[in-house]
Amino acid sequence: MRAITVTPGRTNSLRLAEDFPEPSPDEGGLLVEALAVGICGTDREIIDGEYGEPPPGATELVLGHESLGRVLEDPSGSFSPGDLVAGIVRHPDPVPCSNCAVGEWDMCRNGLYTEHGIKCLQGFARDRWRISPEFAVRLAPELAELGVLLEPTSVLAKAWEHIERIGARAAWEPKRVLVTGAGPIGLLAALFAAQRGYELHVLNRSASGEKPGLVEALGGTFHTGTVPELGIEFDIVLECTGAPTVVLDAMCQAAPNGIVSLTGVSSGRTIDFDAGALNRALVLENNVVFGTVNANRRHWELAAEALAAADRDWLARMITRRVPVERYAEAYDAEPDDIKVVLEFGR
Ligand SMILES: [Zn+2]
Repeated sequence: MRAITVTPGRTNSLRLAEDFPEPSPDEGGLLVEALAVGICGTDREIIDGEYGEPPPGATELVLGHESLGRVLEDPSGSFSPGDLVAGIVRHPDPVPCSNCAVGEWDMCRNGLYTEHGIKCLQGFARDRWRISPEFAVRLAPELAELGVLLEPTSVLAKAWEHIERIGARAAWEPKRVLVTGAGPIGLLAALFAAQRGYELHVLNRSASGEKPGLVEALGGTFHTGTVPELGIEFDIVLECTGAPTVVLDAMCQAAPNGIVSLTGVSSGRTIDFDAGALNRALVLENNVVFGTVNANRRHWELAAEALAAADRDWLARMITRRVPVERYAEAYDAEPDDIKVVLEFGR
């Protein structure tokens, strides 16, 4: 069968293997036929050799952590043939740490977790894959090909759950939300804000392509420029760029009792800033800044509900390119107005 693979640590090793072995029953009892795989920056980092680890004993890593597939067989009976599913990316560490022991692998403390298509587990970019039923999530059949958005949505379902848990520390009536960055993560963060009825503002570096229209379709206001130029304070900020200046500006623009959720990973760059002023602002206004990554099963299920409740035309506009698997190289090459690029199997 076909699989998109890399040899981790080696640049330009991306290839479409035509004779990749069928998934082994050791990988799980649920057998799934791949329909689509979403592509994100992590895939490009793995292709560039910065990241990624094959399973023990293998030299090649199958890419793909944003999955959508159709169940072929499930001996456990949890799923029926034809069900639409996505595979949970991260699996708990074997020790396990105190968080993995209770199913909170997204909060793993020892870093020994594994991840499909990233770290020690083969990914979903292959014609067929296997997983244990407890690591598969069912999607509403009406979502069809839009179900490929479930993985990135799970990351935001977790961010929002944690925002609300932190908010519950005191009486709190948030009204105004800022999302920085209008890529797939920012737009999905904005979708959750709109579903909660908040006043939504989204800031992005440029106003080209579909992004402004997608924000307006959620009832939000699209901005370019800098965070301080907005001149308003926000009860909730979801920082989705990882750009150091934007991150610091976002922290400083929180309203009293405001919560800032950081989801973007920064690359190293030194900037000059007044750490004392930031500390003062956080202390005197009871602000919280927290980081969030990954998602556990509870978040995947919340994400499936959020997608099922979303406007399907809106979700479809987020997928700006669909590339058949034979033309895989095009899919991994970023284009300027891309939002989400999807590699299609099974057609
Ligand atoms: Zn752990």
